[in-house]
Amino acid sequence: MANHDDLARLASFFGGEEAINVVKALAQAGTTTDDVIATQANVRLNTARRILYKLYDHALVTCTRSRDETTGWFIYHWKLQPDQLDTFVRSRKKKTLEKIRTRLDYEKDHSFFMCKACLTIRVTFEDAMESAFRCSGCNGQLISEDNSKTIQVLEESARRLESELSEQQFGNGKF
Ligand SMILES: [Zn+2]
Repeated sequence: MANHDDLARLASFFGGEEAINVVKALAQAGTTTDDVIATQANVRLNTARRILYKLYDHALVTCTRSRDETTGWFIYHWKLQPDQLDTFVRSRKKKTLEKIRTRLDYEKDHSFFMCKACLTIRVTFEDAMESAFRCSGCNGQLISEDNSKTIQVLEESARRLESELSEQQFGNGKF
């Protein structure tokens, strides 16, 4: 089983708790049909199908079809691709890490000014200079903002992702 964080990340991407249940049902069943998955994951058939198609779009499941000899309808058989899932989680983590590093550089390279009255106003020193340190919202005085807490939080997230990524290279975090 992938670790809890991986599942949570996947879930937020593919549609929440129901997506986790579908992935778990798939992992347990091996190859199976969408109605079996829906039953085992305890979700509606349409929901199971929607999640399965989304996973299929990202090559996280394979799908083969056969024809029901009595009804003549196609039956779809789904199978989880654990290695693909691992790769997918890894690449999502790498992207997140890149975003955090970019933001971190930006935070470290700039001084920020904010307005105490309008909490949404936050500008760089350069922009604050241009407006003569006046808020564009209320014309109040802009004050210097200490972003060391923000930097600390970003650094912690980056470290956590880095260590998760290095662990996974040794084959952990698989289904
Ligand atoms: Zn203001």
